Amino acid sequence: MSEPTRKPVQLTDVSMLGLGAMGSALAAALLDAGRSVTVWNRTPGRAAELMTRGARGAGAVGEAVTASPVVVCLLKYDSVRDTLGPVADELRGRTLLNVTTTTPNESRQLAAWAAEFGVTYLDGAIMAVPAMIGTREGQIFYSGSRKAYDTLLPTLDVWATSEFHGEDAGRASLVDLAMLSGMYQMFAGFIHGAAMVAPMGMSASDFAARQAPFLAAMTHGLAGFAEIVDGGDYAVPGQQSLDFSDLSHIVRASEEQGVDAAPIAGVQALISRQIDAGHGREGFARIYESLRAARPTTRPTTRPEEGTAA
Ligand code: NDP
Repeated sequence: MSEPTRKPVQLTDVSMLGLGAMGSALAAALLDAGRSVTVWNRTPGRAAELMTRGARGAGAVGEAVTASPVVVCLLKYDSVRDTLGPVADELRGRTLLNVTTTTPNESRQLAAWAAEFGVTYLDGAIMAVPAMIGTREGQIFYSGSRKAYDTLLPTLDVWATSEFHGEDAGRASLVDLAMLSGMYQMFAGFIHGAAMVAPMGMSASDFAARQAPFLAAMTHGLAGFAEIVDGGDYAVPGQQSLDFSDLSHIVRASEEQGVDAAPIAGVQALISRQIDAGHGREGFARIYESLRAARPTTRPTTRPEEGTAA
């Protein structure tokens, strides 16, 4: 019996799966840089604007993945798994770059799955908002196949400043999520402060005008903390001691304002643990030891071909 005839796939430089805010920005930057791009999105219609700018629309995932090296920019791990699972055979022998935000272990799971199907896997973590794509201001971290990174670099450099973090596919995601952890805690700290001053009539905007330059100045202290953490000696002279940094007065002030003290109480708990253990005369960086005391946990994740989200 003869094989069913397949429509020949028109080859392009990159196939972009996922045309949300970020996927569209990545595809648009490539088009602006003169690259040919095949685009696919689960919900039809989102490719229209890119197609008017020269992108080639694929009717199915299978068609998109056979047109060029594949970039997936979907919502989360489950969406990558659900989208790529059914086209694993079509992906065989090809290159896959996942820039969907995933945890380090999820990235490793995708890399392991890709290896099983002979797919060269590179993971990417985007440190930028869509408006920063196509500028040097944005950063994208990569880990996984070095060969894929080197081959794709002229394309990756269209998007942002590229940085390779090693062949363990989970490393880019780990650095990304660690950076975001710092950012969200800073945002939460600001919003907590804004809630504290609100009862006295200060608007959040007024507070932000004061907080932003103060925080910017305080970031100069990061390098000093880092030096102490890296050196491992928290008793280096000249530091503010943990006894001095005891934040229970801020916790009380928050409570006096009727504002949940959870963000600052979390920091105070890390300090208290070190003071209680007899390290009150050492510096603030000592809270690193409170954090390190937590055991690493790994949650098993399922593989792309194993069906829908749990
Ligand atoms: P959007 O919500 O704008 O778009 C999500 C995309 O994922 C859409 O194309 C959507 O398709 C698709 N999608 C969601 N679920 C599924 C599924 N189950 N199967 C197939 N497709 C699915 O998100 P963004 O574009 O902003 O973000 C994409 C990724 O980029 C995320 O992982 C995000 O964390 C990361 N990122 C985004 C940044 C940003 O500022 N936007 C910054 C850094 C990273 P449909 O149209 O059909 O719903």
